[in-house]
Amino acid sequence: MLEQSNELSAWDRDHFFHPSTHMGTHARGESPARIMAGGEGVTVWDNTGKKSIDAFAGLYCVNVGYGRQKIADAIAEQAKNLAYYHAYVGHGTEASITLAKMIIDRAPKGMSRVYFGLSGSDANETNIKLIWYYNNVLGRPEKKKIISRWRGYHGSGVMTGSLTGLELFHNAFDLPRAPIMHTEAPYYFRRADRSMSEEQFSQYCADKLEEMILAEGPDTVAAFIGEPILGTGGIVPPPAGYWQKIQAVLNKYDVLLVADEVVTGFGRLGTMFGSDHYGIKPDLITIAKGLTSAYAPLSGVIVSDKVWQVLVKGSDKLGSLGHGWTYSAHPICVAAGVANLELIDEMDLVRNAGETGAYFRAELAKAVGGHRNVGEVRGDGMLAAIEFVKDRDDRVFFDPALKVGPQIATALAASGVIGRAMPQGDILGFAPPLCLTREEADIVVAKTADAVNSVLASI
Ligand code: PMP
Repeated sequence: MLEQSNELSAWDRDHFFHPSTHMGTHARGESPARIMAGGEGVTVWDNTGKKSIDAFAGLYCVNVGYGRQKIADAIAEQAKNLAYYHAYVGHGTEASITLAKMIIDRAPKGMSRVYFGLSGSDANETNIKLIWYYNNVLGRPEKKKIISRWRGYHGSGVMTGSLTGLELFHNAFDLPRAPIMHTEAPYYFRRADRSMSEEQFSQYCADKLEEMILAEGPDTVAAFIGEPILGTGGIVPPPAGYWQKIQAVLNKYDVLLVADEVVTGFGRLGTMFGSDHYGIKPDLITIAKGLTSAYAPLSGVIVSDKVWQVLVKGSDKLGSLGHGWTYSAHPICVAAGVANLELIDEMDLVRNAGETGAYFRAELAKAVGGHRNVGEVRGDGMLAAIEFVKDRDDRVFFDPALKVGPQIATALAASGVIGRAMPQGDILGFAPPLCLTREEADIVVAKTADAVNSVLASI
C-alpha cells in the first residue's frame, strides 16, 4: 500500500499538470499531492485513510454531500442505456428535456430556456456570444462591451478569464481582453470610506458604474455580469441596496444583466437562486456546480424570454445557431442533474442551507469574531468567510508574504477540516455541503478557532 502510494506520488509529481497549483513547488516534491480516495456525507478521505470534513464541498459544488446512491444509480443506468447522443439539430434525451423543465420551474420569473454546457467557464463563454448575437440581431453592432467587477470570478478561459477580476488570473496571460472592463468591487469592508454607510457605498458603486457607461458611451455597453455574492474574490455579500441601485443604472442604459449563479444556484443561500434572495432580475443566469452537485460535469445558461425572443428572430434571419459543444446536454450529466435536483428537494437542503448556514456563521462569529486580528466574519446562507487583519481598528492588512490565510487553512486541514484560503487577501472561506448538520458545524467551528488562535499567536 505504502509502496503503491509512493509510486503514485512520483507519477503525480512527474506527469500530472494540476490546475491552479504552484508548478515549481509541486514539481520539486515540496507540496506532494493529497490523493483522494472516498467520501460520505460531508466527509472525505485520502489513500492513507486520513479523514476530513470537507467544509468547502470540493470547490463549492458537492452540495448534496458525497456518496449519494441515487445519483450514482442514475448515472449508471444512463451509461448502460445510452451513454451518449448529441443535442444538435433538435436532438435530446428524456433526461435533458426533463432537466431543462425542472430548472425553469425553479428559476426566477421570466426565464424560459436552458442551454447546457460542461463548466461555468464555457457557460459564461456562451453568455458572451449570446450577448453579442443579441445586439447584432437588434441592429446594434457597436453595443458589445461587457462590464464585470474587480474580484468577480467568472472562469478561466480567454474571455471568461478576462471577466474574472483577480490579478492572479490575468497576470502573464495577457488578460483582460477587450471589450471587457472592470468596475468597483462591492466590498464594503475593504473598499468603503469609513464615513460611508452600506447604502452610501452601494450608491458609490452604482455611480462608478454609471460613470463608466457614460465614459464608454451607452451605445457601446452591452452587459454587466456579477455573482449575487462575490465568491472566489473573498465571499463578500453585497452591501445593503447594492443590486437595486445597480439594476436601476443598467435599466436606464438598456444594458443586459447576467447573474453568475455558478456558486449560488440551487440552494446555497437558502433560496433556490441567489437572484431571488437579493431581488435581482437577470436577463441571463449562469449555472453549474450545484446543478449536479459535481457528480458529473454540467453547466448551463438560463435565458430569459426577453433575450430568447430576439435569438429566435435572429435564427429566422441568420440560420441555425453557430454555437454548440459536442457534450452539450451529455446524457450522463443531465441524468445526474435530474437525480440531484430531486435529492435536493427530498433532503430539504435549501431550507437547511438557510437555517444551518445561519447557525454556522453565528457560531463562527462567536468563536473568532472577537480576536484582534479578525477584521470581519461574514457570509450568507451556507457561505462564510473570516478576513484576517494586522490591525482591525485601522484596517491594516498583513503583508501577503506572511501568508497568514494560507497558514491558517493549512493548520485547519491538518486538524481534519478543509476550508479554503481565498486567492486574494488573508481570507479563510467555507462553503460546506448543504447537508451540514449543527453537530458537524460545531466541529468545524471548534477546529477553526484552534487553528486561528494558534497561527495568529505565532505571527
Ligand atoms: N463562475 C463562478 C461564480 C465560479 O465560482 C466559477 C468557478 N469557481 C466559474 C464561474 C467557473 O466555473 P468552472 O471552473 O466550472 O469553469
